[in-house]
Amino acid sequence: METTFGMINHVLPRSFVDGPGNRAVVFVQGCNFHCLYCHNPFTINFCSDCGICVQACPQGALRMENGRVTWDRNRCVECDTCIKTCPSFSSPRVSRYTPQALWAELAPLQAFISGVSISGGEVSLQLPFITAFFEQVKWHSRLTTLIETNGYAGPQAYLPLLPVLDMAMVDLKAGDDQTHERLTGKPLAPVLETIQFLHAQGKLYAVQQVIAPGFTEDKDSMLQTAQLLAGIDPGIRLRLLRFRPHGTSGAAAEWPSPSDESMENLMDVARACGLTQVERSL
Ligand code: SF4
Ligand code: SF4
Repeated sequence: METTFGMINHVLPRSFVDGPGNRAVVFVQGCNFHCLYCHNPFTINFCSDCGICVQACPQGALRMENGRVTWDRNRCVECDTCIKTCPSFSSPRVSRYTPQALWAELAPLQAFISGVSISGGEVSLQLPFITAFFEQVKWHSRLTTLIETNGYAGPQAYLPLLPVLDMAMVDLKAGDDQTHERLTGKPLAPVLETIQFLHAQGKLYAVQQVIAPGFTEDKDSMLQTAQLLAGIDPGIRLRLLRFRPHGTSGAAAEWPSPSDESMENLMDVARACGLTQVERSL
């Protein structure tokens, strides 16, 4: 049988913001969006094993083996020299896991968490691996499973995952096609189809939107988002995430964060459209 591998950027042992309860979070490498405000831009591109970063590493934590760059996490001091050196703005600090090996790493956390979330990068680029990993989670534990996705893959892509998926959070970058394309480089329609599909399957935990100045931080933009969601179901949970420049690159690093007042006003707009579960980040 063919072995499925996942390309994993890193694992966070516990988080309270990636779904309900206390959850371990697995961040996958690779994304099909190029969001202007991406907070993990080094997770977008896959490493091409060019080897340029190997010489740059001051700790000797990188080596070429059989044409592949390998990373020794015990030597790494997380100085990010490799990321700054990489011509693809990728990272060599990515590990190949089988579903069984990833479960073996997370299993000791079982007593301390309520579930496992997969974030990214973009999960839909590695759905066969994630399905096989969630099968491991369900077989060995009572932990809940959740994905955070941009939804661009469309409904059919998520079908094989449904039997082992408890919840999904979909990032809706903007409620209108023009702003969505400006922000991500991709059209909005497949994302909306995915939201409708996952909701109809009873798997939609929340829709998230980053409130970014000049893009989604205004009343008209929120009206479009809230009306879209309320038209599907006013009970859909909408989480508004305040843009923070930390971790971003390019022009976004200079953008200001929306004020508390601005976030509250947008929540009021969403509620006025009929949405009954509107939350926001701090
Ligand atoms: S972050 Fe990169 S360059 Fe720095 S020690 Fe680790 S592998 Fe080497
Ligand atoms: S991380 Fe970048 S520089 Fe290093 S081997 Fe991969 S593509 Fe080359």
